[in-house]
Amino acid sequence: MEYKRLGKSGLQVSRLSLGSWLTFGKQIGDNTADDLMTLAYDHGINFFDNAEAYAGGKSEEVMGEVLKKKGWRRDSYIVSSKVFFGADGGMKNLKPTQVGLNRKHVVEACHQALSRLQVDYLDLYFCHRPDKQTPIEETVWAMHNLIQQGKVLYWGTSEWSAQEIMEAHMVARQYNLIGPTMEQPQYNMFVREKVEVEYSQIYKTVGLGTTIWSPLASGVLTGKYNDGFPEGTRLGIEGLEWLKDRSLAEENLAKVKQLTALSNDMGMSMPLLALAWCLKNDNVSTVILGASKKEQLQENLKAIEAKENLTPEVMEKIEGILGNKPEH
Ligand code: NDP
Repeated sequence: MEYKRLGKSGLQVSRLSLGSWLTFGKQIGDNTADDLMTLAYDHGINFFDNAEAYAGGKSEEVMGEVLKKKGWRRDSYIVSSKVFFGADGGMKNLKPTQVGLNRKHVVEACHQALSRLQVDYLDLYFCHRPDKQTPIEETVWAMHNLIQQGKVLYWGTSEWSAQEIMEAHMVARQYNLIGPTMEQPQYNMFVREKVEVEYSQIYKTVGLGTTIWSPLASGVLTGKYNDGFPEGTRLGIEGLEWLKDRSLAEENLAKVKQLTALSNDMGMSMPLLALAWCLKNDNVSTVILGASKKEQLQENLKAIEAKENLTPEVMEKIEGILGNKPEH
């Protein structure tokens, strides 16, 4: 495994990490969750990603049970939570005080995550989306205070604009508070703008770290949807029709077919090509993997070595197929 500093912080995060969205507490059984975390940890993955909203809080409970059962030293892994959407499985059932980035919810959601995960502190705590209903200043103060209390070590954002991240830093500077360390954006062969262009300045100015999500575009970039719709996969899950419609655009599938041909020529699997491509970006601190089966994770863990096969010539071929390089 390789490790990298999370932005300008001194925290060394494994370049591959493991997430739990749609899998833990939902698509997979608790034993599989245990198997995945164990395999990950044994291969040097040190970061497990979670959020209050995943499976309405169940994902954190499952992860917490595994952490407790395994008894891994607390100083050997990094665990996260995220606040914004609430934990009752869907905004519509939640009261206005149970969502957002106001001080009340940020603090209460932290306490609830600590209890579900059965840990004393969160290593990383993300604002899961920007909140137009709360001044950024209030959120920065709330995060800073949680850090002062030892309940959180580093805080960050997810899917914030560069401008919003900078505003948080300005507030932090003004009041001598701790600003955000990392952002969690989507990044994969189809979604590139934020990571490659929008944040390009703030990697340098504030030393932003990134923990990227959906590196395989929910599985589409494995090539498994190239020839029809396989049974028992994420995009077939009831209630995720929105994700299915968004993910299986004809234009994208046509590109995956060409990429799959390229990966076959190289004697490399399509998931590895797509994951290694994300790792090639030096502004990516860690690629968060998702997996519903142990074999998938076993395969995806090889992405670190696979990176070496992505020579400048191969990267150029990939660029030619994608045809979506964002303009600076
Ligand atoms: P991916 O895009 O990599 O999708 C993972 C899914 O793809 C797996 O669950 C599996 O689904 C399929 N898959 C993975 N590897 C293989 C393989 N080798 N062969 C075949 N199929 C494979 O990542 P996620 O979308 O899961 O995102 C990763 C993590 O990022 C999440 O767990 C979460 O922690 C975080 N995240 C954060 C968000 C945010 O807003 N901050 C939003 C979304 C995710 P299946 O077997 O069902 O097809």
